[in-house]
Amino acid sequence: MISIKSNTDLAKMREAGRIAGGALKLAGESIRAGMSTLELDKIVHDYIVKCGAKPSFKGYGGFPGSACISINNEVIHGIPKASRKICEGDIVSVDVGAFYNGFHGDTCATFPCGEISDEAKALLEVTEASLYEGIAKAQVGARLGDVSHAVEEYCASRGYGIVRNYCGHGIGRELHESPEVPNWGRAGHGPRLTAGMTICIEPMINVRGDDVKVMKDGWTVLTVSGSLSAHFEHTIAITPDGPVIMTKP
Ligand code: MG
Repeated sequence: MISIKSNTDLAKMREAGRIAGGALKLAGESIRAGMSTLELDKIVHDYIVKCGAKPSFKGYGGFPGSACISINNEVIHGIPKASRKICEGDIVSVDVGAFYNGFHGDTCATFPCGEISDEAKALLEVTEASLYEGIAKAQVGARLGDVSHAVEEYCASRGYGIVRNYCGHGIGRELHESPEVPNWGRAGHGPRLTAGMTICIEPMINVRGDDVKVMKDGWTVLTVSGSLSAHFEHTIAITPDGPVIMTKP
């Protein structure tokens, strides 16, 4: 069942989203070579708590961090660790959730640490642009497949691999709600989008190949090809005035 949010719900969700977006922005501004992913996680955690919210991911399914921090060939769900240092030239995905006023906001971006390769720059640009291609299709009366297809088409036509083992999701009182929001699909198919639906669109895009595997830690997802991977996400509300990004800072 897809839950529909009232305008009051959406106003509360916007506050949760604003906190998640603020934490993500701060994380991006804080990334330095030599910093551990645990230090970065603490910055995210402290910001969310200071705002009076709870980190949505902490303890979710037993996840130990407040943010998922995934570097280079890691796709998603990287566990923050004191022993894992961020290096010059890395790309660092930071995925953040905040729970506030009974609602979640969920957002992610992949940040460069210093100077990155042209390959990495192009990956970040294409992945972020594909998120906005998907958002543009999140209109009342459209189908979910229109969103999925827009993301897929943008990335696949440029030769990138689209991760298929994981996808976006509905969001609201729960971090993960119906429907699933794949980053591939057929335009004109899937559930009809209606006002008050709230979804996370989150392309996970690889330089080469679609295949991924989970590390022995049970969480961190890697590209099988070893190529770089990027991840961008916003929480979106579908409204009569068009899609509204809930996770802007
Ligand atoms: Mg998400």
